[in-house]
Amino acid sequence: MPSFTPSQRYLSTRGGSYDLSFEDVVLKGLASDGGLFIPEEIPSLPADWETKWKNHSFEDLAFEIMSLYISTAEIPSEDLKNIIRKSYATFRTRDVTPIVTLDEEKKLHLLELFHGPTFAFKDVALQLLGNLFEFFLIRRNKGKTGKDRHHLTVVGATSGDTGSAAIYGLRGKTDVSVFILHPKGKVSPIQEAQMTTVLDANVHNLAVKGTFDDCQDAVKALFADPEINATHNLAAVNSINWARILAQTTYYFHSYFSLLRSGKFAPGSKVRWTVPTGNFGDILAGYFAKRMGLPAEKLIVATNENDILNRFWKTGYYEKKAAKGREALDGLKEDGAKAQVEGVKETLSPAMDILVSSNFERLLWYLAKEVYGKGDETEQRKIAGQKVKQWLDDLKTNGGFGVEPAILEGAKRDFDSERVSDKATVETIKQLYTSHPPTAAHSDAKAEDGTRHKGGYILDPHSAVGVQASLRFIERLASPNTHHISLSTAHPAKFVQAVDLSLRDVQGFSFSAAIPKEFEGLEQKEKRVIDVEEGSGWQGIREIVRKEVAKEMGLA
Ligand SMILES: *Cc1c(COP(=O)(O)O)cnc(C)c1O
Repeated sequence: MPSFTPSQRYLSTRGGSYDLSFEDVVLKGLASDGGLFIPEEIPSLPADWETKWKNHSFEDLAFEIMSLYISTAEIPSEDLKNIIRKSYATFRTRDVTPIVTLDEEKKLHLLELFHGPTFAFKDVALQLLGNLFEFFLIRRNKGKTGKDRHHLTVVGATSGDTGSAAIYGLRGKTDVSVFILHPKGKVSPIQEAQMTTVLDANVHNLAVKGTFDDCQDAVKALFADPEINATHNLAAVNSINWARILAQTTYYFHSYFSLLRSGKFAPGSKVRWTVPTGNFGDILAGYFAKRMGLPAEKLIVATNENDILNRFWKTGYYEKKAAKGREALDGLKEDGAKAQVEGVKETLSPAMDILVSSNFERLLWYLAKEVYGKGDETEQRKIAGQKVKQWLDDLKTNGGFGVEPAILEGAKRDFDSERVSDKATVETIKQLYTSHPPTAAHSDAKAEDGTRHKGGYILDPHSAVGVQASLRFIERLASPNTHHISLSTAHPAKFVQAVDLSLRDVQGFSFSAAIPKEFEGLEQKEKRVIDVEEGSGWQGIREIVRKEVAKEMGLA
């Protein structure tokens, strides 16, 4: 039993809504005041969690953690267990998220999050989200037929990973239609094939002539359009959905226990988690785990050259562009790269190419409450909401904002940050492949899955950003009792170009050995994709959505 009963209700970070249910926040995604949903209270772990949970499977851990955030009145325990079991049955390893030791001496471990259906960490969250949608809809639609049924229309834009993970999470779900817009010809061939070869009737891939930004703009226009909102229940599955954060919390605990069980963890040792970060969703789950009571010494934000978060931790300014004068600060000129970023920079780790980090707003709320909160709980929440709203308004109108030293201090208590250039990413992939024979920490960590062979480990470019940041902290800290768990967010075969660039000169390297059997022949399979004509605009996309949903529901 939890040591106290958490409220299990949710509020918006901008103060516009309180006392919402888990179901409300999962189906809505974004709050109507533009804010993000967070739990009214972060639950604490039960007093005996460490002994009681030590030998739990991934699924059992997920159940314990999620039970602290979802009341049984909303989802009865047996149902929650079923949802979790179904969500992780699609993973290729029994352990779901195994850890592998990359370097015994340095105490560097890799947490492999890519054993789900699309070979990227987003599966951990989107498999669960799909089953939660299904559960809520079945319950809402009991005994209803035809137009009375609650039907969800999920619309999203993707430059690669999110789209395929969302499609695999939602394929075949009753009462859900999913529309994923991608820029035609601008996603990697494997990612394109992963999305378009899913033939379920409720899955609609829209190939848009244009850029990822054009796709995203069209999605935003649809969500803001009163006409489509009057007839369709639009839902978002992007990284701001609370259920995704919650689902990701599990693997922080799971990796901690894996390390404990491995016998490599001496009493008094400390653990740091390093997270390749874009929209701050993955690492935010670690923050919740830490606030609940997981003994994490620090969480390390590892960015690529799109480094708004690293600049925040180094300067206290959260700005789309580095202001003149601040760019000379330590850590920003690594490898001589320019700190001044004009728009989003295309890097070798595209899933982290962001201008601003959408989930960062959630951390800001907790920091604001801690520093500015006065009076009773209600008053404190109100003040935090006002502060967050003001910061986000400044971001929108002035392109950024600075925080007071107390806020930055608060942020530094739980986090460190590091920026890793493309050049360093390539060097890290090469270094890990040529000099660190890994040892499997787990009996079911399979060597034949493509990442571990010939004695070297093949990192994907996103994971390499994390590993490089870990290596720098290991050297800087020189603390023999600290373990680093670096999160590996994608399988290398998804990012052939970057891996090939890094390893093609290495004697004996052949990429074909690293390609999982699931990818073989994928590009030749039957595809289902709707070409969006040039110049059809978001209204044209709206027509496609209407027509396809009507067809699916048998109304056309
Ligand atoms: C989405 C993604 C990330 C970034 O995760 P955030 O939650 O946005 O910080 C990193 N690596 C890969 C491979 C991803 O798909």
